[in-house]
Amino acid sequence: MKQKGIQDLQFGPDGLLPAIVQDVHTREVLMLAYMNRQALERTLATGRTWFWSRSRQQLWNKGETSGHYQLVREIAYDCDADALLIKVEQVGVACHTGEYSCFHNRLSFGEREEQESLAGSEILVELWRVIKERQETRPEGSYTAKLFNQGLDKILKKVGEEAAEVIIAAKNRQPEEVAWEAADLIYHLWVLLAEQGMEPARVYRELAKRR
Ligand code: AMP
Ligand code: ZN
Ligand code: ZN
Ligand code: ZN
Repeated sequence: MKQKGIQDLQFGPDGLLPAIVQDVHTREVLMLAYMNRQALERTLATGRTWFWSRSRQQLWNKGETSGHYQLVREIAYDCDADALLIKVEQVGVACHTGEYSCFHNRLSFGEREEQESLAGSEILVELWRVIKERQETRPEGSYTAKLFNQGLDKILKKVGEEAAEVIIAAKNRQPEEVAWEAADLIYHLWVLLAEQGMEPARVYRELAKRR
């Protein structure tokens, strides 16, 4: 990777550079904000992110009121030096709504494409969103809401049962069954995480640490 200094960066006519903030461990995109030269200088000097708030027209140290600071681990800039990528250790959550990432809203564009695009870990993000929604609103007729209402012991019993079902399916070498029961197990594990007041990001970070 080439090394350049702050003097090589192409700040826009408004004096700003867009800065994408990314979780250094999971690589999840956390937020987009803007830095002027002073914000970048303070970020470099303090090791914590500083931005220029366009709405408030003032410098802003992320976490100054929430305590949700971002500890800077690496800064990259793009091919034409007009955008920054800030890789951070996120303390707490990045979004002021309490979500881990600011990018927690899905723009729909046709049901089939949306379904097909949910490959791999993306579907886990979607699953988590639904579980959290059920936990908060407890809608009538929702199995997930019922689990939360029944409490920890019920959820633990389900995790145990589903693990046993995975074992039986695998012993019998039935791939369809293994997939079905593994999905059941992961779903109930995620419900358990929610019950514990935890976030999947914590599990992802733990996995990433072991690479
Ligand atoms: P904080 O910097 O986390 O202490 O939050 C202080 C204020 O900054 C909040 O009340 C929001 O107005 C704003 N803010 C915090 N986090 C974000 C974010 N990820 N995106 C946009 N604005 C934010
Ligand atoms: Zn660019
Ligand atoms: Zn946000
Ligand atoms: Zn099952």
